[in-house]
Amino acid sequence: MDEVNDAVVTIALLYPELLGTYGDGGNARVLAHRATVRGIDAEVVAVSASDPLIAADIYLLGGGEDGPQRYACEALRRSDFVRRIDDGAIVLAVCAGLQILGTSFCVEGDDAYAGLAVVDAVTVRGDTRAVGELRVDVGGSLLVGFENHGGRTTVQATPPLGDVVHGVGNDGVVDGFRHHNVIATYAHGPVLALNPWLADDLLSRALGAPLEPHRSVADQLYAQRCRVLGGN
Ligand code: GLN
Repeated sequence: MDEVNDAVVTIALLYPELLGTYGDGGNARVLAHRATVRGIDAEVVAVSASDPLIAADIYLLGGGEDGPQRYACEALRRSDFVRRIDDGAIVLAVCAGLQILGTSFCVEGDDAYAGLAVVDAVTVRGDTRAVGELRVDVGGSLLVGFENHGGRTTVQATPPLGDVVHGVGNDGVVDGFRHHNVIATYAHGPVLALNPWLADDLLSRALGAPLEPHRSVADQLYAQRCRVLGGN
């Protein structure tokens, strides 16, 4: 744990000017806070689409509207982001961020636009927009958040993040995916503020060690929410 306490966790918030529509920048703040309360230094670096990508322990990709999503995708394509993922970079990708990592996604209507093809995931326009609460069973842990997206995503060969308990997620059945150290979900929130366990999962992966337990108000609210929802 001494080694862990000497570490500095660098959190790269990618393109907040494009992918910040739904408050996903809060995920960076949650990670930094949960590191520092454990005596671990954390640095949040906002990387704009015109900046070169930086070396970071955790990369955050948030949600966005169709146009900005396309610009973000192009900026990432010009960068070495995919190589970093192949090399094991830890990434949380939410909604537009999730779609960008797939093979193609729809923009401004039904036009298919090429994604980064990190996973074999195709996003097409749904008949209705998925707006509301999203709850996902992630291996027995409940992930809570809200969703607001027009896309429906089909993922081949890559395991989903979890099973949809309430809401739509990828397709009404499963949500997100896991690929190497990438976790992708349709849950906004910001999702890490609502799900402290997921924030700690990302941090402990980055540090390569388990974290000391931490019971903040967010943890208590999460526990209360789970109780109200019947333990699921
Ligand atoms: N533009 C995408 C869609 O509507 C992503 C939306 C979002 O990130 N919330 O499907």
